Amino acid sequence: MAEEEGSGLQVLLSTLQGSSDKAAILTILQLLGDLLSVGTDRRIHYMISKGGSEALLQTLVDTARTTSPDYDILLPLFRLLAKVGLRDKKFGQKALELEALDVTLILARKNLSHSHKLLHCLWALRVFASSVTTGAMLGINGAMELLFKVITPYTRKRTRTIRTATEVLAVLLKSRSNSRRAVNRGYVISLLRLHQDWHSHDTANTYVLIRRGLLLCLKRITTLSSGREAFLAAQGMESLFSIIQNCLDNESMEPVISAVLQILRQCYPKSPLPLVTTCSAYAFLGTESIHSEPCCAAAEEDFEDDGDEEMDKDSDLEDVKEQELQSKLRNDLNFEDVQSANHHHIPTAAPLQQHRLNEDQSSRRKEGEHTVQTSLLSMVKMGRSTAHLSSKKRLDVNTYQNVSPSGTGVDTLGSDISGIQDFLEEDIEVISCPGMNASFSSSVRPRETVGVIDKLLHARPKHIPFHDPYLYMAKARRTRSVVDFKMVAFPDLWGHHPPPFSQSMLERKRGIQRIKISEDVRRLIQPRDVINRVVFSLDEPWPLQDPASNCLRFFSKFESGNLRKAIQVREFEYDLLINADVNSAQHQQWFYFKVSGMRAAIPYRFNIINCEKPNSQFNYGMQLTLYSVKEALLGRSTWTRTGHDICYYKNHYRQSAAATGGASGKCYYTLTFTVTFPHSEDVCYLAYHYPYTYTALMTHLEILEKSINPKKIYFRQETLCQTLGGNPCPLVTITAMPESNSTDDLEQFRHRPYQVITARAHPGESNASWVMKGTLEFLISNDPVARLLRESFIFKIIPMLNPDGVINGNHRCSLRGEDLNRQWLAPKAHLQPTIYHAKGLLQYLSSIGRGPVVFCDFHGHSQKKNVFIYGCSIKETLWQANCAVGTSAVLEDISYRTLPKILDKLAPAFTMSSCSFLVEKSRASTARVVVWREMGVSRSYTMESSYCGCNQGPYKGLQFGTSELEEMGAMFCLGLLILELKSGNCSHRLLARAAALLNAEEDALNHHLQRGRCNRSNTSDLDDEPACMEEIDYNSEGNSDQDGSIAELDRQIQECAFSQDEGEEEDGTGQGRNTIL
Ligand SMILES: [Zn+2]
Repeated sequence: MAEEEGSGLQVLLSTLQGSSDKAAILTILQLLGDLLSVGTDRRIHYMISKGGSEALLQTLVDTARTTSPDYDILLPLFRLLAKVGLRDKKFGQKALELEALDVTLILARKNLSHSHKLLHCLWALRVFASSVTTGAMLGINGAMELLFKVITPYTRKRTRTIRTATEVLAVLLKSRSNSRRAVNRGYVISLLRLHQDWHSHDTANTYVLIRRGLLLCLKRITTLSSGREAFLAAQGMESLFSIIQNCLDNESMEPVISAVLQILRQCYPKSPLPLVTTCSAYAFLGTESIHSEPCCAAAEEDFEDDGDEEMDKDSDLEDVKEQELQSKLRNDLNFEDVQSANHHHIPTAAPLQQHRLNEDQSSRRKEGEHTVQTSLLSMVKMGRSTAHLSSKKRLDVNTYQNVSPSGTGVDTLGSDISGIQDFLEEDIEVISCPGMNASFSSSVRPRETVGVIDKLLHARPKHIPFHDPYLYMAKARRTRSVVDFKMVAFPDLWGHHPPPFSQSMLERKRGIQRIKISEDVRRLIQPRDVINRVVFSLDEPWPLQDPASNCLRFFSKFESGNLRKAIQVREFEYDLLINADVNSAQHQQWFYFKVSGMRAAIPYRFNIINCEKPNSQFNYGMQLTLYSVKEALLGRSTWTRTGHDICYYKNHYRQSAAATGGASGKCYYTLTFTVTFPHSEDVCYLAYHYPYTYTALMTHLEILEKSINPKKIYFRQETLCQTLGGNPCPLVTITAMPESNSTDDLEQFRHRPYQVITARAHPGESNASWVMKGTLEFLISNDPVARLLRESFIFKIIPMLNPDGVINGNHRCSLRGEDLNRQWLAPKAHLQPTIYHAKGLLQYLSSIGRGPVVFCDFHGHSQKKNVFIYGCSIKETLWQANCAVGTSAVLEDISYRTLPKILDKLAPAFTMSSCSFLVEKSRASTARVVVWREMGVSRSYTMESSYCGCNQGPYKGLQFGTSELEEMGAMFCLGLLILELKSGNCSHRLLARAAALLNAEEDALNHHLQRGRCNRSNTSDLDDEPACMEEIDYNSEGNSDQDGSIAELDRQIQECAFSQDEGEEEDGTGQGRNTIL
């Protein structure tokens, strides 16, 4: 603002305050009005800063206190006051101090029958009331009674004044003391009646905003418990519920519907979850009794050689020289071996099986060679799925739309299924969840059912790479769970093919949440329609179901399964409760369970009612995953994204005060989804994300180990330690065998730098395991990049830091109920053994000066899309904290940024724009921060993969399948190679070979690196979430009750300045100029 203009304003203001001359005052008000009606809000804020509010308020008080107040002055003055007051946060306080409240109330009372003047007073009251203290003061001085006189009884006259009065009342009711007064005076019932009158007369929805204003008043009052009681006693739920029936999708009713739903949610009586206790149904009692086996007690100094083992394993080595070499190498690599018992033991299967396994291996090896014919380099920033993306066939909402409900779908994978068809007709329930003891791998074939499964496995049509059901079953028998699971889930046993197509994110149906919430409220209003029958419960282990009944059957007592209870609510609707993490009463998010007894083509609604996170990707396009046993038997053994009408919102369940020791109860959220199953009488598995069990990992590692050429690749699986639950936690070492026995080659071999990668500290983050699977398979592959990596580095990989959590269906914690990624500062061998030993390994490496080039811990992220990295930068942390202690003086090696930048250019799913390098206090005990701070590893990362999918890059708009996650794992490895090439300290030999390799792919690579660079700019400031069709009001305290925007009041004032008294002219046809009401 120009200097001149500014000083001119000050002159006007001081003249206004000092003047008693009507003409002068009017002129100044006119000038101010003109000045403020053009330009931006900056002028008004400038005027406020120069005492404009006080000058106007003082003029109001002086004018109003004269014996006959002059409305020629007052009306333009009120308009200015409202305009300025809306933008002055301290306006209410100033009005209170200058005693402007009383004079305005008096003027309003005097003009009850003169609506034009009254309207002006109401505007002023509204801006005064924006401060809660001032609002309370107005309440004491009788403002609410005044407003009630304006709005009652129902009349179609003076609608503009009525609308403003309801809005002022709603603002006043922000004060709790006003709300209390309103309850005591019986306003709840009056407001409900008044609203009912408006609703029944306003059939053309002309006065929607008046109705909304009344509802906002009710919403404010019912934030008090006495308000809710009055509301319930007045049958408020029934009355408002009936209003929104049959009009949920009426757009002209939108403001009313959204306010009604907020009130209904707020007033729905709170209740505890339908569980005997929120504590997990599974208890782990072993914490104290953990006997300190040597492996558990091992301290860092125990990381030492033990070279006298497992010669037998390598007995196929031909010459002794090579054996010597091997054992020498082992001495170099095995210092971290912490125990000798068992860990080199390969579970023995019957000789026949062993033979079949070996056959499998050789075919697998061939296949492996086949799949890596094209280098990973050719997929840079293109993605695996691009091929079918370009053929544009994306899999949409219903994966099974082409499958006939009878179950005799066409086997699109083209394998011979004739033998399997027979099984579809019989025993599907039995084969869907085989018992572990009734095994087909033993020479004795105990029972009928076992034979069925065995036959099935023989006839299994489609080979799944790196999976073997026989081995899986053998491994499953060794997996120890807290409650001793006896069954295995069919999908884990049978295996999973990546879905043939990428699946788009689910488009959110408009108004879906309000439809679901309205159905929920209906349970309260019409309780007789609710079945409310428990059909599955871990707490009541006896059979709950009449087998003849036609409701769904549930089961979850298998690895990673965690459904605790299922309650049939209506014929096709079930409430589900997830088990809390073992030895804990929280962390419900991950789910995995079996469901059967369904009918095809019926939409079943499921509600998981004890979710905890305040928001979820399920509100932004994510679907859950489904595996159909019938589909698998037909050759489509695939987890697919499924479910429609998905949304996630706060519900009426609260943790009881007793459970929290009197503290106000924790809230719960509902995840609701509808599934239309592909077949009748099928058995399906539903999960939060593609499951990946501990047994799957152990199976996978053994197959990997057998699939490598031991002369080329050094691959070793050892036991890092035993977990609290008695399961071995594997540690994998991968590198290349030295090229020859020459001193140079051996020397190079010994001095290869380390890379350390870990995953799955959080058991619910199965996406991290799929990324890890991709990493492991890539590292042992024939891809030239993988070969270079093996020749350059020694990879130390701990693929599952929390096996017990994974096995027992936890989402976040260990068996002690602890978040293991918050235990890195001071882990104890007997309490957090995997963390203790993982940290020990890293400490050992850094103590001998060979800390890893990169440390990365793979995780999953439930709130964001894409894949991204958290790193550690002291400089960015200080800067972010506004720490003045000369951040410019902090010298920092910014090499921590290089790897994410590389990944941003290479990996289709990765984006730099979500990466963060802050070291938050709350993360001080995470792997990333401890490895960075204590071990001095500057490139210490957490890599987060979305559970959902991408909103940028080639996968934009798609949900992740397992192949995209596995590809990310491979791309991560490529990133490590390029990081090394860029670092400048890599050997000439590596540089030359890499150059040759990269040159061959140069065109493609350059193209994508360039493209990556250009594309960044438009994706850098992506919102976390896309705009949604409806405002996602997941958190019943909706924020859509703003009392009209500043612009709206401005508009009203503006309009009124040019119109005359609205007087009594309205006829209520609603078609005139008041349609804006
Ligand atoms: Zn995590």
